[in-house]
Amino acid sequence: MDLKPLFMKYSRPGPRYTSYPTAPHWSDSIGPDTYQETLRTSDPSVPLALYAHIPFCESLCYYCGCNIKITHDAQVSHPYVDALTAEIDSVADALGTRRRLSQISWGGGTPTFLPASEIERLQRHTLKRFDLEDDAEVSIEIDPRVTSQEQLRTLRQEGFNRVSLGVQDFDPQVQQAVNRIQSPEMTQDMLEYCRSLGYRGINFDLIYGLPFQTLESFSRTIEKVIRMRPDRIALYNYAHLPSLRPHQRILEKNPMPPVDERVAIFSLAYEQLQETGYIAIGMDHFAVPDDELSLALDRGTLYRNFMGYTVKRGTHLLGIGASAIGEINGGFFQNVREVGPYQQSISEKGYATFRGCVLSDDDRKRKWIIQNLMCRFEVPYSLYRQQFDEDFEVRYDEELDALEELDRDGLLERDASRLRCTPLGRLFVRNAAMVFDSYLKNEKSTAYSKTL
Ligand code: SF4
Repeated sequence: MDLKPLFMKYSRPGPRYTSYPTAPHWSDSIGPDTYQETLRTSDPSVPLALYAHIPFCESLCYYCGCNIKITHDAQVSHPYVDALTAEIDSVADALGTRRRLSQISWGGGTPTFLPASEIERLQRHTLKRFDLEDDAEVSIEIDPRVTSQEQLRTLRQEGFNRVSLGVQDFDPQVQQAVNRIQSPEMTQDMLEYCRSLGYRGINFDLIYGLPFQTLESFSRTIEKVIRMRPDRIALYNYAHLPSLRPHQRILEKNPMPPVDERVAIFSLAYEQLQETGYIAIGMDHFAVPDDELSLALDRGTLYRNFMGYTVKRGTHLLGIGASAIGEINGGFFQNVREVGPYQQSISEKGYATFRGCVLSDDDRKRKWIIQNLMCRFEVPYSLYRQQFDEDFEVRYDEELDALEELDRDGLLERDASRLRCTPLGRLFVRNAAMVFDSYLKNEKSTAYSKTL
């Protein structure tokens, strides 16, 4: 089936829905007091997920959209880990009782910027204040260019069991243009070493839409990836937002694939992955059939939070570190973005919350619908009624009308009991979710990347 016309039609700017309401609608009137009070009143029986943000990188990849600090100064690690451990103490104190963690995830930046000794210190401090569930997911993003075997062994000894490798593209010309030189051999060696240490659910991050990428060049990258066969693949559409990330302008001096080529690149990559046995998990994730994400998708037990798809139901997420986001009792709390002000705020107040969002009744309902779409690809009306004591079809009749086009294009099926994405429609789930986003109508959607 030629997917290109559909991708062309539905490729439009839209949120990734790691949160609802999305971050542009949060309020800066929410600070440490609200956060502390929310932690204090959170349900102690709910297991928690903890995300730690390590923002340091040794060099800048020009496509980067993360909150980072470029430095070669290894000395920055120590005071930063001091601040992280102090924040963990503040949060654990506010929670009151000792709590369980079902998920820990370190992201960045480059978490392996931290030397083995700081990795140990941070993880041991976390486990001094929290209990780790036996089957917890403990994951870290690694950059094969700067991660040593010693660090990988230390991480494994400290309980890490999942890794995600930044790859993006194997084409030398693309790598040159984005300032990230990383040979396939380097990636393969790291993958094999991670496997030999017993890491599971090993993920590769790939990006399409970068300069010099063509259908042929990216298809070769996908072929190499398929030969290496990571357990999971995240295939992201490059988000070119130079008004927010000025360094991305550097990429404009080289030819970027126009929208129809991007769409063709994604469409071909999707087919290549499907033909070789990968299961499409959502709009941009793939996994081998026996990976726990694929199994959870089948069982309807897939969840999604700021760290992406997970099999762990952790309705509460603690965000530790500069720019980190937490989600407690359905509300969102974000720390200041810059390292200096973050460290200062933690040393003065124990917290660094600078904005957040407390959900209205309408937000809560729409968030539930969007989460069901993103994780289960369906909204059973009876479940909605059970949850909110009102009829889905009555309250969202306008939205149901607006979904008609997706229905006609074979991306959605509706009957008297539910609406559901078709297998192909899972790739367009962001488009379906956007119909339920009440903030989008009055917003400039250019603040978001393209859905496909
Ligand atoms: S290594 Fe990752 S976080 Fe650091 S600059 Fe490159 S893309 Fe951004």
